Amino acid sequence: MAARASGLTLVSHDGSRFFFDPGALCLEFLTTGGPGELARWDVLHQPGDLAAWLAQSQLRLDPAQVTVSADELAAARRLRDALWRFARARVAGQSTPAADLATVNDLAGPAPLVPRLTAGTGADTVHSWALPATGTSALATIARDAVDLFSGPYADRIRECAGYCYLIFVDTSRPGRRRWCAMERCGNRQKVRAIRARQKPTGAD
Ligand SMILES: [Zn+2]
Repeated sequence: MAARASGLTLVSHDGSRFFFDPGALCLEFLTTGGPGELARWDVLHQPGDLAAWLAQSQLRLDPAQVTVSADELAAARRLRDALWRFARARVAGQSTPAADLATVNDLAGPAPLVPRLTAGTGADTVHSWALPATGTSALATIARDAVDLFSGPYADRIRECAGYCYLIFVDTSRPGRRRWCAMERCGNRQKVRAIRARQKPTGAD
């Protein structure tokens, strides 16, 4: 598969921005909020919010060419919350709730977005998606990505950030030692803590 830009820019609760690439479209979708304590991060309040997020995600859809109904918005939130439970069950080594399996399979059913090649600069071709598109086709693309991820070779590499920030990623690196959502965020915080710990006068290793 041709490499294409993935990941998206997030804003921390302290207002700082950082780039987060969870390694899969369906995990990017988890950054729109979620069930329980994650509801305070929810950005999907109106149909237009889903179109706006699809523009920021690796799909990079033009929001003016994506129609989203109130039902599709509700389906998006259902899919996202199911994917959270799915991913957390996987991280914890637990079985997936049957209702969440049904939600993902149900929303993977309709026709997904149609991939296309677009001429780039020189001999390059660029991956894009046929427009206009509907919320249903975008959700089918996300749900199918989840089917591929959770049944694929990296299903055992789905992890929670070691900085306890809730973010979930799939480690597709060859050595498989990714620990952080983003080095510039949780990775650096951890480094600072480690340096401080070493500098404690009585804290001999
Ligand atoms: Zn993190």
